[in-house]
Amino acid sequence: MEYWSFGLLDCRSVGVLGRWNLRNFIPGSDKPRPTQILADNYCQRLETTRGMITFFIRCVVSIRWGNFFSTRRRVISSLHYSITPLLLLFSACDKAPKPLTLPPFDGQAAYELLVKQCDFGPRVPDTPAHDSCRVFLVAELQKYADRVTEQKFEEHLATLSKTVKLTNIIASFDMAATQRILLCAHWDSRPRADQDPDTSKHNDPVPGANDGASGVAVLLEVAKTLKRTPPPVGVDIIFFDGEDAGISGQSETYLAGSRYFAQTKDVRFNPMMGILLDMVGDADLQIYKEENSVNYASGVVDRVWSLAGRIGVAEFMPTVKHAVTDDHLPLLNTGVPVIDIIDFDYDHWHTTSDTPDKCSAQSLEKVGRVVLAAVYNPQL
Ligand SMILES: [Zn+2]
Repeated sequence: MEYWSFGLLDCRSVGVLGRWNLRNFIPGSDKPRPTQILADNYCQRLETTRGMITFFIRCVVSIRWGNFFSTRRRVISSLHYSITPLLLLFSACDKAPKPLTLPPFDGQAAYELLVKQCDFGPRVPDTPAHDSCRVFLVAELQKYADRVTEQKFEEHLATLSKTVKLTNIIASFDMAATQRILLCAHWDSRPRADQDPDTSKHNDPVPGANDGASGVAVLLEVAKTLKRTPPPVGVDIIFFDGEDAGISGQSETYLAGSRYFAQTKDVRFNPMMGILLDMVGDADLQIYKEENSVNYASGVVDRVWSLAGRIGVAEFMPTVKHAVTDDHLPLLNTGVPVIDIIDFDYDHWHTTSDTPDKCSAQSLEKVGRVVLAAVYNPQL
C-alpha cells in the first residue's frame, strides 16, 4: 500500500507516478530515485535503437515477473509492475523536444535589400533619398502583406532644427488572427555622423548600412517568407521613421516614430511579443542580451535566445552587455513586451563608414533564422 499512497499523493505530473516502484523496476537499485532523473535517462536511451530495445525488454520482463504473484497484495504489485513501464514511456516521450518549424532564410537576398536601401543615399528625413526609399519599402511590402498602411505625422527634429514629415510603414499579415507577433526596425538614417573619428565629417549624414538598413532588410526577407509559408500567428511588421535624428546625450530627442506609434496605437493592438532589430548586419556579429529587454520582457528574451541556441546561432551571447535607448522603449511603456536584438559593438556606429562592406549576408541570415524560429514556433 505504501507505493499506492505515495503515487496518488505525489501526482504533480504523469512522470512522478513512476515513483511507485522504481526500486523494483531498476535492476540493482535498492532505493527509489527521482522520476525526473529516470525519465531523462530513458529519453537519452530512447534516442538510440539499442536503448529502445533495452527499454522494451525491461518492460516485458517486468510484466511477466508480476504474473508470479497471486495474493491480493501481490495482485496490486503485479498491476503496478505492468503499468509503470507504460507511465515511464509516456513521461520519457513527454520530455523529448518538439521539432521546430523553420522555413529557409536567404541571407544573400537580404544583403541585396540592404545595398538597395543604401543606394538611395542616407535616408535622412526631409530628403529625396528618404522619400524614394519610403516608396520602395511600401511597394516591397505590398507584394507580400495583406495590408500596408503609412502612418504619417510631423515632428520637430532637433538635429535638423525643423519640423519635418515622417512616416511609419505598417504591414499586416493575417489580420483576423488574434494572436499576433510584432516585428520592427527603423528605416531612417542619422543626419549627423557625430561619432566619426574625422571631426570635419560630424555634420555629414550616416550611410546607415548597419544602423537602419540591416534590420529593414531582414524583415523584408521575412515578409517574403510570411507570404510563401503562412505562420500560425498574425504578424505586424513596422518600419519606424525618425529613430535616429536625436542629439547625442538627449534620449528624449530620439525615437520619434515609435513614440508616435505608441501614443496613438489602437488599444486592441496587443501583440503577444515583439522583436526589434537594429544593427544586425555587422560582419563580426555578436548579439548580447539588452538590459532594458531583460528587465521588462525577460520571457521574450529567454524564448528567443533559447531558440537561437536550438538552431545553432552561437552569435546570440548568453550575457547582458548594453542598455540601449531604442524603439522598444515606447512600446514597453505601453505594456507590449518588445525586445531589442542589437549588436552594439560596432566600430562604425554613427560614422560615415557605416557602409554595406561592413555587413555580411551571413550575419543577416543568422538573425533572420532566429526571427523565423520565433514566429513559426510561438508555443515554445
Ligand atoms: Zn543609430
